[in-house]
Amino acid sequence: MNVLVINCGSSSLKYQLIDSKNEAVLAKGLVERIGIEGSKLKHTPEGKESIQVVTPMENHKIAVGLVIDALINKDHGVVKSMNEIGAVGHRVVHGGEKFKTSTIINEDVLAAIEECNDLAPLHNPANLIGIRACQEIMPTTPMVAVFDTAFHQTMPEVSYLYGLPYEYYEKYKVRRYGFHGTSHMFVSQRAAEFVGKKAEDMKIIVCHLGNGASITAVQNGKSIDTTMGLTPLEGLIMGTRSGSIDPAIIEFIAEKEKLTLPEVMDILNKKSGILGISKISSDFRDLEDALDNGIRLAEVAMDVFSHTVVKYIGAFVAVMNGVDAIVFTAGVGENNIIVREKVCAYLGYLGFEFDKEKNNVKGKETIITTPTSKVIGLIIPTNEELAISRETVNVLK
Ligand code: ADP
Repeated sequence: MNVLVINCGSSSLKYQLIDSKNEAVLAKGLVERIGIEGSKLKHTPEGKESIQVVTPMENHKIAVGLVIDALINKDHGVVKSMNEIGAVGHRVVHGGEKFKTSTIINEDVLAAIEECNDLAPLHNPANLIGIRACQEIMPTTPMVAVFDTAFHQTMPEVSYLYGLPYEYYEKYKVRRYGFHGTSHMFVSQRAAEFVGKKAEDMKIIVCHLGNGASITAVQNGKSIDTTMGLTPLEGLIMGTRSGSIDPAIIEFIAEKEKLTLPEVMDILNKKSGILGISKISSDFRDLEDALDNGIRLAEVAMDVFSHTVVKYIGAFVAVMNGVDAIVFTAGVGENNIIVREKVCAYLGYLGFEFDKEKNNVKGKETIITTPTSKVIGLIIPTNEELAISRETVNVLK
């Protein structure tokens, strides 16, 4: 069966068509600027040149229609008709406490996702728009929702409760949810498979280090703690997000800079993190260039980032009472040799024997520790689209 994987944002839509039999990507693409002037679709059929369609797209329904047209087009299409798309798998950011697994989408499920809108106001409404647009264009095709939060629903109370009045949990469900769940699940399972074990028999720490970054403690195949919280702002320092800070800083900055609460939150989300510290960029590649040019704050930003990664690794080793494997994934985790080196330099206390030579790779499944290391260090490229397509097929079985 061919599964269309959709990741819909407020003005963008990413897609991949995956043949679930052999897990081959038949085509992928990106629609940008939906509802804004300059809408365009970039469609890449596997093994062929990309094509661009630049045309006004007033809404997501029009965008989905153009994606389907591209997929079935005589010249650059990859299937003959829409009937060859067996299912659609939708990435949904927040499933609250309702969704512990992926689920077939029906009206009740849509209503329940909508109830989580408060918890992810930037993401969930856009995800819903994408689902509705697909339903209108493909009314008979089964659709599955795959949640970023679902994998973390196995966290125990001690991990998800904040030290706040309990009534906020009762009234508003204020608690840790965690994100990047699809990636943490995929990567932990693949890491176990790669070392010839079962995730069910292991203690694994997955460091998903991208623009957004989070770390998860995966014990016996289940998430038992993670760094992101009610929202993706908590935990590690990220590209532009502050990660965890003293909450009192919010009021302090608001007063000093004469800012409103939303303005301070905007700074914490968009102007902080490695961009904020380095004053250069949220992209680690730019930091590496700056490092070569001897710019001090670039090194400081990278050091602070690595230091927070190390702190959470230590915390999760304690929470699991040990660790068998530490895994690096996502843009920075897979590709940034310096950051991995900086992090691993701290891990000797675990009997983690870092192999600098083996670490000298980008984006490839690799063991980066010596054969005698007590803890295995790995790079495992994440593949959220493939994970969503697998989930979609499993749910429909
Ligand atoms: P997102 O959270 O947006 O999915 P990514 O996982 O793509 O983010 O991570 C983006 C970060 O990964 C950037 O800081 C970038 O420097 C880094 N990155 C991505 N690809 C590469 C690469 N090929 N080489 C070095 N760094 C990379």
